[in-house]
Amino acid sequence: MKRRTFLQALASLPFAYSTVSQAHHTEGNKVEELKLSELEWRKRLTPEQFYILREEGTERSFTSPLNDEKRKGEYRCAGCDYLLFTSDMKYDSGTGWPSFFTVVEGHIGTSTDFKLIYPRTEYHCARCGGHQGHVFNDGPKPTGERWCNNGLALNFVPT
Ligand SMILES: [Zn+2]
Repeated sequence: MKRRTFLQALASLPFAYSTVSQAHHTEGNKVEELKLSELEWRKRLTPEQFYILREEGTERSFTSPLNDEKRKGEYRCAGCDYLLFTSDMKYDSGTGWPSFFTVVEGHIGTSTDFKLIYPRTEYHCARCGGHQGHVFNDGPKPTGERWCNNGLALNFVPT
């Protein structure tokens, strides 16, 4: 297959949600999914949040005040308030996006996206499906994971 044809084939792939989140869902803590229309989301979110959460956009690096957030607390989905991370999971990756080395078990789903040439693992809120960021395998111990999150997709609630 010629390269161009191959890329076109990649681009035309349907959005393939993996079974990861569904697997978590079956473990007795199934969350009721929040489904809203595009209009309802536009009313609920700022244009920037809509772009990230509902259109899988990415904010510019070093723009989120959450980069420097070091207080104890909870990081909740800006779309539906579902708990996604706690402050104990956060670390400074130096990338300019709030970063975490793990997630609240079962509260996040993943899929593979092909927006760049190489496939990346996209992740989203398990309740509302709102896009949060991408996960990479160059994080710190003990998980080795770097959950690279858009600050605008999160609300921080200090405890
Ligand atoms: Zn959500």
